[in-house]
Amino acid sequence: MISNLNGVGIHLEITSNCNSRCLDCGRYVKGTDIVNPKIDIGSAGNFSVNKIYNIFDNIICDTARYINFTGTYGEATMHPYFFDILNIISELISNRKQQRQRNGLSTNLVLMIETNGGLHTNNWWKEFAEIIKNKFDNDSRVIFGIDGIDDETHQLYRRGVNYNSVIDHSKEVIKAGVKAIWSMISFSHNEHQISKAKKIASELGFFKFKIRRSRLRSIVNDTVPTLNNVLTKKSEISKEKILHSKNYSEIFSNKVDDNKKNKKFYFEKQVDSYFDKTSIICEWKEKNQISIDYTGRVWQCCYFSTFYHMPIEYDQLGKINFDYNLESRRFENLDYYEKQYVENWNNVNYNKLSSIMTHNFFVNDLKDSFNHSTSSLNMPRILRCAKHCGEKSRKIEEKITHINKEY
Ligand code: SF4
Ligand code: SF4
Repeated sequence: MISNLNGVGIHLEITSNCNSRCLDCGRYVKGTDIVNPKIDIGSAGNFSVNKIYNIFDNIICDTARYINFTGTYGEATMHPYFFDILNIISELISNRKQQRQRNGLSTNLVLMIETNGGLHTNNWWKEFAEIIKNKFDNDSRVIFGIDGIDDETHQLYRRGVNYNSVIDHSKEVIKAGVKAIWSMISFSHNEHQISKAKKIASELGFFKFKIRRSRLRSIVNDTVPTLNNVLTKKSEISKEKILHSKNYSEIFSNKVDDNKKNKKFYFEKQVDSYFDKTSIICEWKEKNQISIDYTGRVWQCCYFSTFYHMPIEYDQLGKINFDYNLESRRFENLDYYEKQYVENWNNVNYNKLSSIMTHNFFVNDLKDSFNHSTSSLNMPRILRCAKHCGEKSRKIEEKITHINKEY
């Protein structure tokens, strides 16, 4: 599918470790503080520094548009050798300036990072910003997840990350002349603060303010209430609602009977016929982006990462003695493709990124699969593609884009 590498954006998860306990993040068993048993933690969850060379060979150095340090399960600033990784990348890129110019790219790479911003000291953030300023392109940006305008509201979702620390760290980035973005997830408990948050962001010198869809409502459903409420809701929320959100994990834990931890997994249910019918437009391919997770696996998008570390709920813990990740891949048809190719074909711990990206899966097979049903014997569509990039999801994305423009 990726026939032209030029201008590619690389989304890289360098660690599965995180300092936060965001509600609904897949690194925790839903509604608890228990780390998902399938996720590696500690040093086992850190991407190897040496493997950066497998990502940034000459071909990728000549063609990459940006690197985005992001992740499904981890916080990049937790990697103990994060600055080393940054220095290696900038040095490799600096050896290829002429080739990059010939390809119409900036001589330095654009760096992006999506961070909760809560770790480290002000000096660490100052040093980080200076590395970006001196070694990466001017269009680089640090995207802070800030979900409120006070510590109490912010931590209703982003538990363990102090609001005031994040603001202090963002000030260091802005002071150094690096673009900072305030990214706010809208919930019913914070949507009344959106206008004020935007104003504070502007006063502090943030380059941009944007709203993100709540993960708590990320199901395929075009009647998501919050999306409609964001533009109209002005009143203060009730104390009752705040309490409900604050105690989210307790509510979950309390209502589950330990002896009945047997809730069905999604793959034990029927597939909605919508997923066979809907047209698919690959969002990440359209944007020329690829994703590398902390295990080194490369997929077109980050949505595939959870095939190997599926988020589970507290009341499914009694059923984890079988390989539910494999069951999920079977159910969604990813196993069809796994069986076609050699082991580790898409892993940068074993192969160069440039050769992975020219593999048949990316060049032909994924695109072909969109034309088939989930039950096709030949190149069946992968259910996740229909879920994330089918018509209903595209409508939700349109709404988000509209709301961001309004703000
Ligand atoms: S900061 Fe990101 S990785 Fe960490 S708990 Fe929150 S959502 Fe998950
Ligand atoms: S889910 Fe499938 S179609 Fe959507 S971005 Fe990912 S690979 Fe592309």
